Amino acid sequence: MINSNPELKKIADEVSNCQKCPLFHSRAKGVPGEGPPDAEIMFIGEGPGFHENMQGRPFVGAAGDLLVELLGAVGLKREDVFITNVVKCRPPGNRDPLPEELKACSPYLERQLQAINPKVIVTLGRFSMARFIPHAKISEMHGQPIKAKGKLIVPFYHPAAALHRPSLKSVVEKDFATLPELIKNAEQAPAFTPEELPEDETRPEQLSLF
Ligand code: URA
Ligand code: SF4
Repeated sequence: MINSNPELKKIADEVSNCQKCPLFHSRAKGVPGEGPPDAEIMFIGEGPGFHENMQGRPFVGAAGDLLVELLGAVGLKREDVFITNVVKCRPPGNRDPLPEELKACSPYLERQLQAINPKVIVTLGRFSMARFIPHAKISEMHGQPIKAKGKLIVPFYHPAAALHRPSLKSVVEKDFATLPELIKNAEQAPAFTPEELPEDETRPEQLSLF
């Protein structure tokens, strides 16, 4: 697993001692992420919640249970995929991560992407999606893969969204059910072209894909 890859181990060690943003104040344990170092699919969520913060592992609370259920429905186990978040420490009270926290934490995810080099990146929720497809709306983009830097980016709603808004549960389930087909048809996904964004919305720091 993760410990067999020196770079991933190093990232995990750095995260547990990191003070690059104020989220370290609310950290019990850093949550670097986990999964096979050669995973073909990487799931990226938002940030650790209560249980993740206590255990130092991603998606181990209610949203995690749903994620495991959704993965199971398409024949995947959590051990088959790499699971991480855009911020590695818990925002107090599970609030949204702030732009400066996302920015400070970004190099860890960048290094994980380089070390693992997954073929498919599944973003869970809007903060994770925004990293790859800036300014997209999750209500419009969910379930619609896009190619960026040779990878397939598959934006899904966050499983927690389905827990908070029961009307979304069937949408989330339907999106997940298409994952094998989306991966199979990866070549047909349109390429992401930042130029298409309205000019007043192209902020340079958000155009970087990784
Ligand atoms: N929600 C997330 O976005 N990440 C986790 O690790 C757990 C819940
Ligand atoms: Fe460091 Fe990221 Fe934790 Fe902030 S959230 S302290 S940048 S590891």
